[in-house]
Amino acid sequence: MYDRILIRYGDLMLKGRNKKQFIQAAVARVKEKVKSEKVTFETAHDRLYIRLNGENAETVMADLDKVSGLSSYSPVVKTGKDLDDIEKSSLELLEKLVKGQKSIKVETKRADKTYPLTSQEISKKIAGKILPAFDGLSADMHHPDLLLTIELRSDAAYLFAEKIQGLGGFPVGTMGKGMALLSGGIDSGVAAYLAMRKGIETELIHFESTPLTPIESAQKVVDIAKKLAVYGMQNRVVLHFFPMRRIHEAILKHVPEPYHITILRRMMMRISQRAAKRRKMFLLINGESVGQVASQTLSSLFVSDRAVSVPVIRPLATYDKNEIVDIAEKIGTYEIAIRPYEDCCQIYVPKSPATKPRDFYARRYETLFDYNEMIEEGLEEMATIIVSEKSELDLVASGFTVKEALIDKE
Ligand code: ATP
Ligand code: MG
Repeated sequence: MYDRILIRYGDLMLKGRNKKQFIQAAVARVKEKVKSEKVTFETAHDRLYIRLNGENAETVMADLDKVSGLSSYSPVVKTGKDLDDIEKSSLELLEKLVKGQKSIKVETKRADKTYPLTSQEISKKIAGKILPAFDGLSADMHHPDLLLTIELRSDAAYLFAEKIQGLGGFPVGTMGKGMALLSGGIDSGVAAYLAMRKGIETELIHFESTPLTPIESAQKVVDIAKKLAVYGMQNRVVLHFFPMRRIHEAILKHVPEPYHITILRRMMMRISQRAAKRRKMFLLINGESVGQVASQTLSSLFVSDRAVSVPVIRPLATYDKNEIVDIAEKIGTYEIAIRPYEDCCQIYVPKSPATKPRDFYARRYETLFDYNEMIEEGLEEMATIIVSEKSELDLVASGFTVKEALIDKE
């Protein structure tokens, strides 16, 4: 029944100077995402049309739900320009949508100025046919439940009555790049998703301590990355595994216990910054949320940030846990994140972590071991993989350490 899908871009991106570039990126991301081979694409001023050519509209719209930078879309019916055709198609279209709705407005846009009736006349005539056809439906010009739009163009009339909200944000890749610190937990996957949705091309880095931690915890990270890949450029995401064991052990050995987490965080930040710079990225993203745990007080965030010189964004800084969980469920990472395996930060949680750590002490404790060399070594050993939604990566079946499991896959 539907002929095409009309896609509207976000308002914001249509205002700036980069409008053309944003639209190009949005179109490219849509083309990458829509898997059907039947459809064709048509760009018009401030809009994109996907011509279905017989493809199911629902299938295509499910793909669009994963493209950032789209504000909304509507499945569109194409029909003849005669009032009779418009009437018949309108009734058919509304049939499925009218249930539970009390009021409607018909709006006509007439690009074809040769048409013998004015927009208002057409709207009126069609409304006059629709209203008696559906029990209990009345006209409402101000706050209608349903809005039927008729667009008259030279070739045909186009009708739509649904407006589905898009993912919002900006097309991924239009807002620069960043490195997201990804644990196997609930928060950091959501943080990375929000960064991608905001248009940031995001790579992921995970600090792993296999075989001290179970390989299953690294598998969680791969599985979360697979869920995030659908929001990435070309439906993929780059994932780095940094071997953290030695640094972690050095911290446990040399640093006073209340500062274990503080120093571990600072090491993660430093390493991420170095890994990011190698990839020409100058931004870090993590999943911290103010006050969620003892290591996420404002003092802790401050001391973490002092270890690096690039900006650190924390998309979840002000979110409550239940809000984060809602998003994790929506993007499909929640079920993975709650699997029981521990990652490197959970194996030795100090009894009384410093809730007001000081930069001065952190710096002093960091002189107690030579982390620079360990970081450089770790970066040399770091494994980098490209993950897509369909990647088949079974680390658990392949070995006890990430290195073993990834040995042939790099
Ligand atoms: P999450 O659910 O994201 O693990 P959390 O509330 O458990 O968050 P922490 O364990 O304090 O918080 O970690 C804070 C942030 O540090 C995480 O959101 C993540 O960005 C980063 N992080 C923690 N552990 C790792 C790890 N092993 N590898 C990469 N990043 C990590
Ligand atoms: Mg965690």
